[in-house]
Amino acid sequence: SVHLTMSVQVVAAKMAEVELKDVPGKDLAAESPVTPMSEGKNLAKNDPHEAGSSAAASPTAEPSVKAGESSPGLLTPNPVKMPQASAMKRPDPQQNGGEAFVNRDGTVAEAPRMKKIQFADQKQEFNKRPTKIGRRSLSRSISQSSTDSYSSAASYTDSSDDETSPRDKQQKNSKGNGDFCIKNIKQADFGRREIEIAEQEMPALMALRKRAQGEKPLAGAKVVGCTHITAQTAVLMETLSALGAQCRWAACNIYSTQNEVAAALAEGGFSVFAWKGESEDDFWWCIDRCVNLEGWQPNMILDDGGDLTHWIYKKYPNMFKKIKGIVEESVTGVHRLYQLSKAGKLCVPAMNVNDSVTKQKFDNLYCCRESILDGLKRTTDVMFGGKQVVVCGYGEVGKGCCAALKAMGSIVYVTEIDPICALQACMDGFRLVKLNEVIRQVDIVITCTGNKNVVVREYLDRMKNGCIVCNMGHSNTEIDVASLRTPELTWERVRSQVDHVIWPDGKRIVLLAEGRLLNLSCSTVPTFVLSITATTQALALIELYNAPEGRYKQDVYLLPKKMDEYVASLHLPTFDAHLTELTDEQAKYLGLNKNGPFKPNYYRYY
Ligand code: NAD
Repeated sequence: SVHLTMSVQVVAAKMAEVELKDVPGKDLAAESPVTPMSEGKNLAKNDPHEAGSSAAASPTAEPSVKAGESSPGLLTPNPVKMPQASAMKRPDPQQNGGEAFVNRDGTVAEAPRMKKIQFADQKQEFNKRPTKIGRRSLSRSISQSSTDSYSSAASYTDSSDDETSPRDKQQKNSKGNGDFCIKNIKQADFGRREIEIAEQEMPALMALRKRAQGEKPLAGAKVVGCTHITAQTAVLMETLSALGAQCRWAACNIYSTQNEVAAALAEGGFSVFAWKGESEDDFWWCIDRCVNLEGWQPNMILDDGGDLTHWIYKKYPNMFKKIKGIVEESVTGVHRLYQLSKAGKLCVPAMNVNDSVTKQKFDNLYCCRESILDGLKRTTDVMFGGKQVVVCGYGEVGKGCCAALKAMGSIVYVTEIDPICALQACMDGFRLVKLNEVIRQVDIVITCTGNKNVVVREYLDRMKNGCIVCNMGHSNTEIDVASLRTPELTWERVRSQVDHVIWPDGKRIVLLAEGRLLNLSCSTVPTFVLSITATTQALALIELYNAPEGRYKQDVYLLPKKMDEYVASLHLPTFDAHLTELTDEQAKYLGLNKNGPFKPNYYRYY
């Protein structure tokens, strides 16, 4: 581990050289030692992926670091000019196009009258392979995150003609390697194109690759991953590989795998076990194939949802003897880790990357600012100018939605329960109202509160004809959709993800994504947002893998703030942004290290 730490420092030095070339006059000698520290303990927020789970509120552990001890050297901001961008797509994770309404909790709601129009995306994909009850009982049931979580995946090139299960096929890549299980290796060229497009918008990972040339901070790392398998993940995996890691990967979501990307990865020599439309049995089988291999044992886990971690705990607990750390992406997974930690069962350090500041800002504010318009437009073709919109909740997501709609010329009302956020809404030029004051007149209702039953039947009854109702907040709790499933109302599926709910007098409201997250269901996540996440994951892996003995205990940690700052700095060159450096005098005056961290842990970055 000493060797590895040193090697990372050498990489840092090399990176610093690159930086020197790119940024004239940068004073690298002044670079300070990194001091990981506990981050704000209440940064955790609800996650767009989750239903019913609140953010992990457990205390966040502090890594023990002695003064002067150095972290992996990948922390020096290094503006490298990166190419510009394109956009990617996102999946239609889940459809409920049938007549029976089975709630997530398993209860069956009374079916309303429903005009049936079958859409392509209503095809039930989950059980293409019959799931045997006996095999299913091997594990707990498939997790929420395996069916409903954040991804940009959608396939431009996927052919669903071939119904043969990948498990029944023998495939090899062009080098004769068959250690993978994917839909169709012949799609590799298409997948490669998708990966190359994603690379354009993932500047930080590309910079990490460039800067780690020669030195490998992940040399010897054997990373087993369970995330969405998309072009963006492929960029991450290929970066980890360039940094020295070996990777084996399964999908954290049964719907979101881009088959052609999986093919490109397999062609490139990665052991990938994933395809779009896995059954529950396939899902666990793929995870098992990643970890259960003679002569190969993982020493790092990268998880999104906690299913992989859970599987190893359950099936191969001894593996944890060699595992140096877990990096977890989702609220659900983080929550499980905190539970394990509380129960004293967490046997390795874990990094909660979900709550790093940069990632949160991008997921909640910036991503929603863009995707609210995208989701509304794709589903309804609505024109925003002059429309009256009420946004419920003026937190991060609400602020993003309001800003976007205001910029489009909509008249925006806000509802809030918190006087501070309410005052912010006023200061930003929005009318603060109670929902019942505007519900009859608005054209669009958007919920972003993280709360439940914000829009109840009473309000739905009073909305005007044609009112669009959607949710950007907490999974499917904010709009009381169940209250619309009554016999006197007719549901008409007019488009994918768009239902008209029709009252006996002919009034209809336009319900989007059945109250689930609009942008998750109906729009894309920009690759740049995923670049932030992927970079955070890569740095967390590097940090945990290289941390000196004793820095991290068997607990859950947030990414050290300095690394969070580094993730942001790696994305600045895309914008040709020039960061001001503190002078020695200024640094002394503010009591800061010139190289950060620049803010206390409780700072909220409003
Ligand atoms: P936040 O806590 O910053 O904001 C929520 C706001 O809603 C708060 O200001 C709160 O006071 C207010 N609120 C609560 N109950 C209310 C009510 N009944 N009426 C009016 N206002 C109410 O949280 P956030 O970061 O904005 O996230 C909000 C929700 O969006 C969460 O559930 C989060 O998981 C989800 N989210 C969605 C996406 C997405 O892509 N759609 C991304 C990130 C987060």
